Amino acid sequence: MSDSLPELLKQYFGYDTFRPLQREIMDSALEGRDVVAILPTGAGKSLCFQLPALARDGVTLVVSPLIALMKDQVDALTASGVAATFINSSLQGSEAQRRRSGLENGQYKLLYAAPERIMMPGFAEDLRRWNVTAIAVDEAHCISEWGHDFRPEYRQLASLRAELPGVPFLALTATATERVRSDIIRQLQLDDPHVFLASFNRPNLSYTVLPKNKSTRQVYDFIHQRPNEAGIVYVQSRKSAESLAAALATEGVKAVAYHAGLQPEERAANQEAFIRDEARIVCATIAFGMGINKPDVRFVIHADLPKNIEGYYQETGRAGRDSLPSDCLLLYSRGDLIRNLKFLDEMTDPKAAEIAARQMRLMADFAESTECRRVTLLDYFGEQWPGDNCGGCDVCLQPREVWDATTQAQKLLSCIFRIKQKSKFSTGLNHVVEVLAGANTEKIRKWYHDQLTTYGIGKDTPREEWTALGRQLIRQGYVDASPDNYQTLSLSKQGLAALMNRTPIMLTRTPTLASTPPAKVSKTGSILCDEGLFAELRTLRKRLADERGVPPYVVFGDTSLRHMCRSYPQTDHDFLSMPGVGSQKLADYGQPFMAEIKNWLTQHERLIFANEAPPPPPPKMKVETGPGGTVLETLRLFRQGLSPEAIASQRNLVISTIHNHLAQAITSGDLQADPRDYFSTEDEQVMREAAAEHGLESLSKLREALGNQFDYPTLHYFRAFEMRGNAPP
Ligand code: ADP
Ligand code: ZN
Repeated sequence: MSDSLPELLKQYFGYDTFRPLQREIMDSALEGRDVVAILPTGAGKSLCFQLPALARDGVTLVVSPLIALMKDQVDALTASGVAATFINSSLQGSEAQRRRSGLENGQYKLLYAAPERIMMPGFAEDLRRWNVTAIAVDEAHCISEWGHDFRPEYRQLASLRAELPGVPFLALTATATERVRSDIIRQLQLDDPHVFLASFNRPNLSYTVLPKNKSTRQVYDFIHQRPNEAGIVYVQSRKSAESLAAALATEGVKAVAYHAGLQPEERAANQEAFIRDEARIVCATIAFGMGINKPDVRFVIHADLPKNIEGYYQETGRAGRDSLPSDCLLLYSRGDLIRNLKFLDEMTDPKAAEIAARQMRLMADFAESTECRRVTLLDYFGEQWPGDNCGGCDVCLQPREVWDATTQAQKLLSCIFRIKQKSKFSTGLNHVVEVLAGANTEKIRKWYHDQLTTYGIGKDTPREEWTALGRQLIRQGYVDASPDNYQTLSLSKQGLAALMNRTPIMLTRTPTLASTPPAKVSKTGSILCDEGLFAELRTLRKRLADERGVPPYVVFGDTSLRHMCRSYPQTDHDFLSMPGVGSQKLADYGQPFMAEIKNWLTQHERLIFANEAPPPPPPKMKVETGPGGTVLETLRLFRQGLSPEAIASQRNLVISTIHNHLAQAITSGDLQADPRDYFSTEDEQVMREAAAEHGLESLSKLREALGNQFDYPTLHYFRAFEMRGNAPP
């Protein structure tokens, strides 16, 4: 059964290779074992039960929590030529009848249903008659009270074990916590299951944290820089979701709101608009999430601080399911943490409030930290990141300035020490900073802290800097903060030693908005392509999708389109070699897409891209380096501030190759550069005149025509900018 998987993968889904763990999971499931698959969002969980369903006899039952989710998956499967259907309460009587008789006749390979339906009297008997030979439980964490989307109905699924003896289960989830995992195994009564746990790293996501300052403006600027991209903006409250969506709309951005307070129809309509590429932005509370399997969400912004790291990870995880580079931006202010902590006052259970407070602080630590974001996130899931530079977070891409903080740190450490010495109790960071600043507060008067030798010795430094310094000293272990809500400070052993011995203390400067532009930080895995043609094919995709009443990504994902815009396929054979093109899609969409490509080429020059098209990175290991990475690797190093010469020597390539790479990236729009960094306006004029006569095809001819006064790199860049000018953005 298993042998036929690669062919089925190509024939139906148009892919040549499996993603990490997919094959192992499928093989195990086809052996008839119970399996638990814990893979991050975007890793390709659906295929793990869809492909084996095609390889085995009978029908695979897929338990899925949401009607919208079922419908989208069945649409996508049907578009790929897979016989799939769903049964739920949204169906009219005659339609339900039609599907049931299809099931009686063994016409389907996959049947989707919600747990409520499966538990209805008589349904188990139906399932037996329909020859259900495997059961996939999607979003299996819904079975656990410890998960974030508990669904009591999931609990009853175990009864299927008795009803359908010998039918293997495959449980799938993106929730990694140990507690949820063991809950799934226990509640579903899985029999010695094979558990597969993938890395939770999302290599195509980049992470940036910026100090929050006029967040509506910041959000708008970020979105404005990405004119054709879809994204989600998470905010704390329903009110902000609506006001932000309205503010963006007045700026001309197609944005909708989503939160649990909307009428169900409006909520569904807004979600639908987003999935169908009619609204580009959703401003949402955390109610927006599960059930969004739109693969081309290019960014997720958190305009308010999330309440915990798990939530932040799941929410950012909705970006870039299609493996293309996507950005996660968090706008952080300490005030958000304080507001979140205030909410806890309403909680009645002190134990729960304490846990929640700890999680909130961990989230703030993440934002304030000067450690790699990826390392911190993965560490939260108990995973270790192997490299020392992830190449995809603000910390790694813009190494912070390290400064000698010994003198300042000495002042702060000694202030903590003196307070304790005088008063025999500890205080929080705020008070320590007030003492350093020489403030005249009630507490300072009451405790006579104006008599300390450290009173006022930090007048010259703004209080925020003292606070930032204090927090860094806590994180670096010089200062201990009590675990209670007061967070009172005392010197650790390390801090005391540093104070006594005047040990040098090196710290990193916290970035300010001015020093950290909210730029795209990563292009790892991007597919350089003809952007002009890409825009055309997207329009075509949207039209065809509307005609068929499906979301655009069901026709083709961005990955497929981008590959088409690199290799301009015009025969069935070439079209079929595009990733994501199987035989059904060739039959349904090959003709219109190839016609569009042909048409484009009658009016535009065919762009040449390096042969080694970077495959989308496997969702497992670290950023690719070495000769295989080509243009992307050059671009990555260039973005880190390396000169072309330095890149050439680091990569062991000749300098002209590097210039070539950068020129290609300028043409494709992947590198936003200013021509003035490469040649003057006058030179540009001269080159342009010569190009008008001799063309841009042959640079050697052009160079000769210009009396050899320009070197090749300059001409390369000139051509790149000229070609960028010709293609619509
Ligand atoms: P998950 O459920 O784990 O979040 P999905 O099943 O939605 O992930 O898959 C995410 C994307 O990856 C989909 O667009 C899917 O078509 C694509 N995909 C899955 N498996 C492969 C593969 N082997 N090769 C290429 N793309 C794949
Ligand atoms: Zn990093």
